[in-house]
Amino acid sequence: MSQTDFDLVVIGGGPGGYVAALRAAQLGLSTAVVEANHLGGICLNWGCIPTKALLRASEINHLLHDLDGYGFKAEAVSFDFKKIVARSRAVSKQLSSGVSHLLKKAKVPVFEGFGKLDGVTANGRRKVLVSKKDGAPQTLNAKNVILATGARARILPGLEPDGQFIWSYREALVPEEMPKRLLVIGSGAIGTEFASFYRNMGAAVTLVEVAPRILPVEDEEISAIAHKEFEKQGIRILTNAKIGPRRKGPIVSASRWKQAAKPKPSRWTRLFPPLVLSEMSKTSALKAPRSRLTAPMS
Ligand SMILES: Cc1cc2nc3c(=O)[nH]c(=O)nc-3n(C[C@H](O)[C@H](O)[C@H](O)COP(=O)(O)OP(=O)(O)OC[C@H]3O[C@@H](n4cnc5c(N)ncnc54)[C@H](O)[C@@H]3O)c2cc1C
Repeated sequence: MSQTDFDLVVIGGGPGGYVAALRAAQLGLSTAVVEANHLGGICLNWGCIPTKALLRASEINHLLHDLDGYGFKAEAVSFDFKKIVARSRAVSKQLSSGVSHLLKKAKVPVFEGFGKLDGVTANGRRKVLVSKKDGAPQTLNAKNVILATGARARILPGLEPDGQFIWSYREALVPEEMPKRLLVIGSGAIGTEFASFYRNMGAAVTLVEVAPRILPVEDEEISAIAHKEFEKQGIRILTNAKIGPRRKGPIVSASRWKQAAKPKPSRWTRLFPPLVLSEMSKTSALKAPRSRLTAPMS
């Protein structure tokens, strides 16, 4: 029978959870990890890693279309979008199995299933109930529990992802076909990465940001340089803009603010009438869903 009593149970096998588990094991604690989906969490499976694999492909595409500047010549350069996405998934899978290997080596068992705190035993140990997709639930006991369950995508009211016109980061990572047009809501690191990837692969991209500048949590100099570079790449950027609820099909409205001559933080002088993003309304005539939005993580 496998061990069910531990010094430490870590719920969540993302970078927060698996690193804590490895360190605890190194320090001599008997440790287990409970993971509902894939080891490596969002970062390895749906975040940092697959986005970088896609960005590498878009960088190559960008270079291949700028060969002349480097003294090279190539004709009929094209790409297989499905292969690009498949490579990104393969890189994620490889790194996720690397985490499994590390935990095995450190003698940290992984319990696959959804972990839930389930009270305390008579001798004061915490109970963690692990519900599996198939099979009976299992109870683990632990002196300590670490909750490392990560973050979820923020769902904007009226813009709930439907997998067709509105994507979260998940759908944006595994598109079935290259969208012709894309509106990205939110210009933090994740939004700008998706905007850059899809633009470099040839989509018409509009990036919408409610704050006065893109990458609003970065230094002003960085966001000014990035703004200029993204516009050079052909990304249309709307700052001081807020997307309203979805109207019909892929149509949304955006309200923009004009900044005061001497801006005070968070105060705007004039509200422009809502504008329907023209590329969105044009695509509403298309039968196939070609235009999509992506929404940010909270
Ligand atoms: C598109 C995208 C790109 C990103 N790019 C970067 C980047 O380039 N650099 C960077 O530093 N960060 C990046 N991030 C952020 C990064 O992914 C997170 O900061 C990181 O994953 C957080 O790690 P975590 O372990 O706290 O949570 P997570 O990675 O979310 O892991 C939590 C794990 O817990 C599991 N879980 C949740 N609840 C339960 C439960 N009850 N029982 C069992 N298991 C459970 C989940 O299945 C998940 O595997 C990106 C995020 C996204 C979405």
